[in-house]
Amino acid sequence: MVLLEEPLKEVKILKNYIDGEWVASKSEVSVDVVNPALMKVIGKVPRSNAEDVEAAVIAAKQAFPEWRRTTPLARSRYLFRLKGLMEENFEEISRIGTMEHGKTIDESRGETRRGIENVEVATGIPSLMMGYNLEDIASGIDEYVIRQPLGVFACIAPFNFPWMVPLWFIPYAVATGNTYILKPSSETPLSMTKLFELIDEVGFPPGVLNIVHGGREVVSSILRHPDIKGVSFVGSTPVGRDVVFKEGAAHGKRVQAQCGAKNFLVVMPDAKVRQTVASIMTSFYGNTGQRCLSGANLVMVGEDDGFYDGFMEAVKGTTKSMRIGYGLDESVQMGPLRSPDKKKRVLGYIDKGLEEGAKLTLDGRKFELTGDYPDDCYLGPSIFEGVTKAMVIAKDEIFGPVMSVIRVKDLDEAIAMINDCPFGNSAMVFTADGGTARKFQYETDAGNIGVNIGVAAPMAFFPFSGMKDSFFGDLHGQGRDAVDFFTNKKVVIMRWF
Ligand code: NAD
Repeated sequence: MVLLEEPLKEVKILKNYIDGEWVASKSEVSVDVVNPALMKVIGKVPRSNAEDVEAAVIAAKQAFPEWRRTTPLARSRYLFRLKGLMEENFEEISRIGTMEHGKTIDESRGETRRGIENVEVATGIPSLMMGYNLEDIASGIDEYVIRQPLGVFACIAPFNFPWMVPLWFIPYAVATGNTYILKPSSETPLSMTKLFELIDEVGFPPGVLNIVHGGREVVSSILRHPDIKGVSFVGSTPVGRDVVFKEGAAHGKRVQAQCGAKNFLVVMPDAKVRQTVASIMTSFYGNTGQRCLSGANLVMVGEDDGFYDGFMEAVKGTTKSMRIGYGLDESVQMGPLRSPDKKKRVLGYIDKGLEEGAKLTLDGRKFELTGDYPDDCYLGPSIFEGVTKAMVIAKDEIFGPVMSVIRVKDLDEAIAMINDCPFGNSAMVFTADGGTARKFQYETDAGNIGVNIGVAAPMAFFPFSGMKDSFFGDLHGQGRDAVDFFTNKKVVIMRWF
């Protein structure tokens, strides 16, 4: 077992970044950031307060008039420089992600790349931000649309993609001429600290990009602040729907809240077994099941027991041999959950599944750890068979490496079950039949659809979608949707005398 070198050698004392300076929070309270693979403290993050938010809003508001007058091309040059620094620091960024989150180094590298791709897309802002026009809408009168930035925006981010998720928004917000405040998750604040070190190195004008660490007080101050025009939230449904969307909208803000999920993977009897099994493994167990696009329910279609048994044998065979350990060991295939609490929560769902009468045919509580580490956060992959749609394990977002297998007779029953589920983040079908694929994408109520794809994660130039309890608001992160979210369309009608 060879471990890659850790980029963080000492406990990092985090500060806020406001008006182009690293500043200590006005609050004296801080919380530990723990590497879940080793249960070792690697950082201390401030629990900032309303005063810190106020300072960031003042800085961002002051920076706005000049930043919006900076030409789109000049703004995009800052992003080009940022992208260059991200590439130079690619491996360090990825290893920080593994240290603070627990995911494997390859998963972190994938995340780093997705974040960079959003910066790349946003560098196209001179074209993306163009309006449109039509002359002679009446005699001698032309009409056109211009897009303008609105002012200060903010982001409230989750723990599970600490690098990528804020980058669904930040590059587009500043490319369109807005200024910005980021509140990362206090569980995983180190990736964004690294980003802001690079932002500082690029030399963005002070106040254009600010980071304020913290919890509920920071969120509440952001949602109520009259000078913040809009908020992008990514996290769980109760917080996104009941706190951020409600409060933000009540305070007159644009809000986009990308929330929780329960994702279905539907396997048709004509699916290609080897490729489908490989996709399924990544979907259910990648990121230790802590993705909003993770597979949760595996829906096996058809009454052919032979196909079912053969398929499940292949799934279990691959799952059993997964290497579990510290993600900085490149041979490891699954890292720990993010915290002991999260492990406890998943264990609770395993108990619940047993109570409900589902069959635990692969017990993740029994696993071999690659390496000598405390096992507070580690858990093996689990498989429940004989699950019914009424069971809690088939309905709740477990957010861990647990697969619930449900058998249905046909595609209509599978689609009806997905459409009954209150979440609508993603749904996947595995089939060799074009008609099945089209019916599935046409009839299924989920924002991101995969056909023979295990994790239907949209590229940076497409919106990261979501429906029902998985999304509140109008416009999504990434690409053109993000450009629309961060701009106001103004219509000009001009008569030429
Ligand atoms: P979370 O809701 O606990 O936290 C998200 C953010 O909200 C954090 O910054 C946190 O500090 C803040 N927060 C938490 N509780 C709060 C409260 N009561 N009041 C105000 N602010 C609060 O989510 P999480 O555990 O960090 O992330 C996991 C969740 O995010 C899962 O449900 C997952 O499905 C979802 N997620 C969704 C997407 C998507 O695009 N739909 C992407 C990634 C993650």
